[in-house]
Amino acid sequence: MNLSVAVDIGGTKFAAGLVDKSGRIVDRVATRVPNRANAEELFELVAEIVSQQIDRATNHHGGQPLVVGVGSAGPITRNVESISPLNLLGWRDFPLRQRLVDLTGLPVFGDGDAKALALAEGWRGAAKGYNSFIAMVVSTGVGGGIVLNGRLLDGETGNAGHIGHVIVEPDGRRCDCGARGCLEAEASGPAIEAITGRPPTQPTYEIMQRTGRLVGRAVASVVNLLDLPLAVVGGGVALGFGATFFQAAQDELDELCGLQFARGARIVPAKLGDAGPLVGAGAIGWRGMRRAGISID
Ligand SMILES: [Zn+2]
Repeated sequence: MNLSVAVDIGGTKFAAGLVDKSGRIVDRVATRVPNRANAEELFELVAEIVSQQIDRATNHHGGQPLVVGVGSAGPITRNVESISPLNLLGWRDFPLRQRLVDLTGLPVFGDGDAKALALAEGWRGAAKGYNSFIAMVVSTGVGGGIVLNGRLLDGETGNAGHIGHVIVEPDGRRCDCGARGCLEAEASGPAIEAITGRPPTQPTYEIMQRTGRLVGRAVASVVNLLDLPLAVVGGGVALGFGATFFQAAQDELDELCGLQFARGARIVPAKLGDAGPLVGAGAIGWRGMRRAGISID
């Protein structure tokens, strides 16, 4: 059994797993990230779980690890040559790809966590069978990845799909990017807490509706721009707000997508839950092998 070693670099948690060619997670392990870890301490944590999974691939599952795939919180540069995740202060311009090559001796491919999720949801989740869709996360931040005509979009620097900075409220709240009224500045967890004075885990009906409406508004712009039939939304804020959020988002989408091709576009919850990041990282590994022309059969 050929395996992709999947690595998920989150802001508070690292996970590693083994993903086979059908997208099944064969094994997995996770570890919490301590607050004040330096660069080498952080890498030591990754090295430990990756080495453990590679060992289990051969010794426990009788499999063959062929590649390492990484999905990482951003900002990152292309192929995780250098990563600087916002919540991991110990890593600034950390050369993750090379370090994982040195550790494992395997080819290493990486991408942003939201793009990884898009691959995962298209492969095994809510977007299965769709050629064109956006997958997005509404959580501490707001990010996304777009699949168009069967291809995950990269853009000039690999950052295509950053729906968090589509403007949904003219003259709205100031965003970290310098603009006003970006979706992330209005609908992320920290934004909701700043607006309401309550954590997003204790939402009012109004804020659940408003957040859904704003997400629907941003999605409508993308649907109209790119001719997408589907938006898949995950992340703690969206999934925590549940049906109220999704109904408001769908209503807004229906209202703003009047062109014939865009009519009927749907916005639905992500399906893979906490398996999404690892399935996505595994997919990035397999995709990298295919692109590099390396046989995986
Ligand atoms: Zn912004």
